[in-house]
Amino acid sequence: MKTLPSQGKNHTDILEEMRQYGGQDVNYRQARTWSLVYHLDEEHTEFLKQAYGLYFSENALNPMAFQSLKRFETDVINMTAHLLHGDEQAVGTLTSGGTESCLLPVLTYRDLAKANRRFPFKPEMIAPESIHVAWSKAAKYFGVKIRYAPLKQDFRVDIAAVKKMINRRTIMLVGSAPSYPHGVIDPIGELGLLAQQHKLPLHVDACLGGFLLPFIEMNGGGVPLFDFRIPGVTSISADVHKYGFAAKGASTVIYRDMKYMKHQFFIHEDWPGGVFASPALLGTRPGGAFAAAWAAMHALGENGYRENAQKIMDITSKLQRGINAIDGLQILGHPDMSVFAYHSIDDGINIFAVGDQMEARGWQIDRLQRPEGLHVMVVPEHAKITDEYISDLTASVELVKSNPKLAAKGNAAMYGMIANLPFRGMIKKEVMKMMKGMYSSQGQMPMDGSKNPWLVEKVAGFMQRRKSKKSQG
Ligand SMILES: *Cc1c(COP(=O)(O)O)cnc(C)c1O
Repeated sequence: MKTLPSQGKNHTDILEEMRQYGGQDVNYRQARTWSLVYHLDEEHTEFLKQAYGLYFSENALNPMAFQSLKRFETDVINMTAHLLHGDEQAVGTLTSGGTESCLLPVLTYRDLAKANRRFPFKPEMIAPESIHVAWSKAAKYFGVKIRYAPLKQDFRVDIAAVKKMINRRTIMLVGSAPSYPHGVIDPIGELGLLAQQHKLPLHVDACLGGFLLPFIEMNGGGVPLFDFRIPGVTSISADVHKYGFAAKGASTVIYRDMKYMKHQFFIHEDWPGGVFASPALLGTRPGGAFAAAWAAMHALGENGYRENAQKIMDITSKLQRGINAIDGLQILGHPDMSVFAYHSIDDGINIFAVGDQMEARGWQIDRLQRPEGLHVMVVPEHAKITDEYISDLTASVELVKSNPKLAAKGNAAMYGMIANLPFRGMIKKEVMKMMKGMYSSQGQMPMDGSKNPWLVEKVAGFMQRRKSKKSQG
């Protein structure tokens, strides 16, 4: 077990040691990643660090003490609300990230519903199956039951199914713009109508799209309406630290009106530490993240975001054309933005084995289940690797086609099992074990199929038994 060094070390040595630890990390600077990092370029990053550094120590816990931070928050919220076509009544808070911006509306609408009902009830929310996992986390944290509405063939939520699920316990509806897995925008207009008919709040999770879709629209691209122009929409979340290209730790949750947001505020008037009021989840709120969000929006401006949106969408079309041109691969659905997934339409091509081959070529690949696919999220820097990605993908598909056994090897076998195992409780148990290992004092890294041959054998055996069972009928 590591202990605190008895003697402090010199800064140069510490920084050198820290740099070395990064040697194994995924290579986002060379645009080898398709999630996790929204890196515009080195110049912008250096600028963000300066902006962050200016307010490194400041704390938005007390906006009266740091009026600078309150100003950043108000400006960022107003600019975002304006982009999303909110009117003068629109209000919001800066949060630490998309997850907080999804947690808060569940709390807010649960308490709004409680305030309006005389009898105790078990709150429920209705969300598409494709909704971001932060919403099921919110449901768990705040004691709300989440009911998943099925998707239609086009991966957008089935409105008829949502309608059937609404009952007296329903506190809110949610839709995505776009969804993380398939990059499609739910039919927000129809959800809005349902919400109005049943007097329910409707939140649009635009964590991904909030800082991209408005600029695609300004550039003349066809984007279905998803924002406050739809009368039933009562709140929207949009991440500045994704396509807003701010520093991590900055997202927004915007409400149509204070009459909703007031239920988000927490006030405790009898605390011995003083009367306490807090607008969002955190206590201490990092000034640096507020400052960098404000700085990013001012540095890019409408023209900068529009140029980026153009670049991003050009890369996206090029990638999609390239992928669709590969025999046996197909884009899932008709994505509305720069986030999408593709899958195999050829039994001879295991898509997870293709993913392994791509990783062997130095790409960091994200995998989807139900249906199985590989995931892509485009940033401007991908312009320099688009051709390489497509040629590596072509080669990977060829290799997997001619080596069907690869499907039962490496990570493909493991992901295949995880996606298909009917006993979901078993998966949960295994993942819990993995989490305990990672968060034990040893900090064990999780199983990697390619580095644990015994595990692969175990999984291969499992797949074999499953196959023979299937063929026996
Ligand atoms: C990223 C994302 C979230 C969660 O945001 P974090 O910043 O990762 O906490 C929520 N919803 C959608 C659609 C997202 O893409």
